[in-house]
Amino acid sequence: MYAENRKTEAKNLISGATGDWELIIGLEVHAQVISKAKLFSGAPADFGGAPNDHVSFVDAAMPGMLPVINRKCVEQAIRTGLGLKAKINTRSVFDRKNYFYPDLPQGYQISQFKQPIVGEGKVLLDLEDGSVVEVGIERLHLEQDAGKSVHDKHDSKSHVDLNRSGVALMEIVSYPDIRSIEEAKLYVGKLRSILRYLGTCDGNMDEGSMRADVNVSVRRPGEEFGTRCEIKNVNSIRFMGQAIAYEADRQIAILEDGGEIVQETRLFDTAKGETRSMRSKEEAHDYRYFPDPDLLPLEFSQDWVDEIAAGLPELPDEKKARFISELGLSAYDAGVLVADREAAAFYEEVAGGVDGKAAANWVINEVFGRMNRDGVGFADMPVSAAANNAIIRMIADGDISGKIAKDLFDIVWREGGDPAEIVEARGMKQVSDTGAIERFVDEIIAANPDKVEAAQAKPKMIGWFVGQVMQASQGKANPQAVNQILKQKLGL
Ligand code: ADP
Ligand code: MG
Repeated sequence: MYAENRKTEAKNLISGATGDWELIIGLEVHAQVISKAKLFSGAPADFGGAPNDHVSFVDAAMPGMLPVINRKCVEQAIRTGLGLKAKINTRSVFDRKNYFYPDLPQGYQISQFKQPIVGEGKVLLDLEDGSVVEVGIERLHLEQDAGKSVHDKHDSKSHVDLNRSGVALMEIVSYPDIRSIEEAKLYVGKLRSILRYLGTCDGNMDEGSMRADVNVSVRRPGEEFGTRCEIKNVNSIRFMGQAIAYEADRQIAILEDGGEIVQETRLFDTAKGETRSMRSKEEAHDYRYFPDPDLLPLEFSQDWVDEIAAGLPELPDEKKARFISELGLSAYDAGVLVADREAAAFYEEVAGGVDGKAAANWVINEVFGRMNRDGVGFADMPVSAAANNAIIRMIADGDISGKIAKDLFDIVWREGGDPAEIVEARGMKQVSDTGAIERFVDEIIAANPDKVEAAQAKPKMIGWFVGQVMQASQGKANPQAVNQILKQKLGL
């Protein structure tokens, strides 16, 4: 979707001194491909390693070395394209993008320019209010990453580390369909979630395996697009939000002052929270793109694409739709649960044979809440999905109250063990036996004649009695039974 005229919702308009402004954003995300080897060499593509440990002659651009395309990287790009519901081009071309930089020994980057491997696709954003926004993808192409210059090891010298040189990147370019900071954040989050489901990029922004060039412009509502600035290499979702906010304010201030926006590349200074100019369009590189004579056009069969398509996992959007239709979840809860593939799988196991909504509430509030608080991931989760499922079953069967269930979860979290056995051994079973509850009720009524009178005048006071009975039963009395018996005995 190229939505030049996509209307900005009123809540996303920015009010300036002279009226409203629309924010227009387009993102170019660089995602490092998960593969053992680099795009055109057999050197390892892993993060880390001692400097210049993962470098072949090809990556160091030794004379006479020739690139050989890595089939795995091509497959990963196709998988990603399919996950973005995009057109896969069975014929694409690698070009040389020429520029000089010390960490680029070839003097050019092998990239794709006019004929990328993946064409138009889309990403759906799930807004908090349950609505869905579509952001168009213009293209995805494969390219080499550059090396890294290190300036802080020596007073007067710079070091170059070529470990990253030649690692495969997918550049995923969106149309300028994004209309707010919130949408930009959701877009990067959703893209990352899709890449992780597909296993094509680990999405770790702090390790640099995903980074974004953020294009920002403003315009009067409904008018033509304004001139944009591009903020380079933003490596966290939070910083991206700050960079866009700063850039929008800066551009609006210039325009309201009667000035003009100069198209330029800017950097976001994370310490100062502001963007500053790196180079203007006039100083922009002329990359002198041309087809790389060392590489034939990349061609593969539609059959291979179909085979890859058949092996794709269920992706977040489809999973979300299924959670809503089959398990009765709200769009919001379903969105929360499918964002992470492991979380979704965990939830589905917990929800087996019990009410889907009850399981969703339990997983989101109890399980995720505790995991966040204790900084625990699924790999070292002390309460298994099966144990959570057992706890929810016991609540549903009336064996334990919701309150006891939380205590039980805490015990299993800290001490381990089987939930049913713990309930049995520690006498945590809910008392539904009306005789036992009646005895508690009778005692409390006998001991508090003044409160009885008060409750008869003001029926809301029953809450106090319920609290007393629950306390006397150590939280084990079935609250519904308690309510019923109290009403009857108090004559309410
Ligand atoms: P270039 O080839 O100069 O990099 P592109 O047309 O490929 O320019 O656009 C690069 C990125 O900039 C895309 O993500 C696109 O969505 C975004 N973009 C283009 N025009 C605008 C605009 N007026 N405001 C914000 N983003 C824009
Ligand atoms: Mg571009």
